[in-house]
Amino acid sequence: MEKRGQLIVISGFSGAGKGTVVKGLVDKYGYSLSISATTRAPRPGEVDGKDYYFKTEAEFRNLIDYNGLIEWAQYVDNFYGTPRKFVEDELKAGRDVILEIEVQGARIIKKQYTDAQLIFITTKDAETLRDRLTGRGSETEEQVEKRLRRAAEESEMIGYYDYIVINDDLDTCIDTVHSVILGGKCKKERNEDFIQQLQDSFRAGNE
Ligand code: 5GP
Repeated sequence: MEKRGQLIVISGFSGAGKGTVVKGLVDKYGYSLSISATTRAPRPGEVDGKDYYFKTEAEFRNLIDYNGLIEWAQYVDNFYGTPRKFVEDELKAGRDVILEIEVQGARIIKKQYTDAQLIFITTKDAETLRDRLTGRGSETEEQVEKRLRRAAEESEMIGYYDYIVINDDLDTCIDTVHSVILGGKCKKERNEDFIQQLQDSFRAGNE
């Protein structure tokens, strides 16, 4: 089967719990996780180099100029981008890499990496999302409203994704996403070289 790692994009509304789902995928199933660069200020408890690479706007622009990001996007008031080197090294080494990014970035990734799997994590409805965002307590009321407006826009873009998974029960969601990824890896389009070798091995046997 294919030796190159699988690129996986996980998006979802801010507050839908995708960060926790991604952490579960890394801890339980050993996926590699790309750490993004951002101009956003760290939230309490966030660590540079672990949660994000926190950058000034000038540093971020420098990364763009030197082709150091495979995608970047503006989200609410900040820039976010995926460092190129880590992702390419991991894929080359045969490891499956998760990018936890928003929709504009996901679309850019799909254009560059056509076999990337795009998975959207959602709450079951808007009301549940509002409850979770308010309960999180890390955002002001104005920021919650901004994130909800953004979620409304993002809900119109779910059609760009390959899969949608509801995060109702966390463990179920983690296992479902893992199953979806495994299923995607078995797609025939992703295994054309292997299929060719398999068929050749039979042809050789018949000669
Ligand atoms: P937060 O500020 O809540 O950590 O992230 C805001 C949004 O930016 C989330 O939807 C998150 O998935 C997205 N994001 C994080 N890193 C990246 C990145 O490298 N590229 C893009 N396009 N979006 C990102």
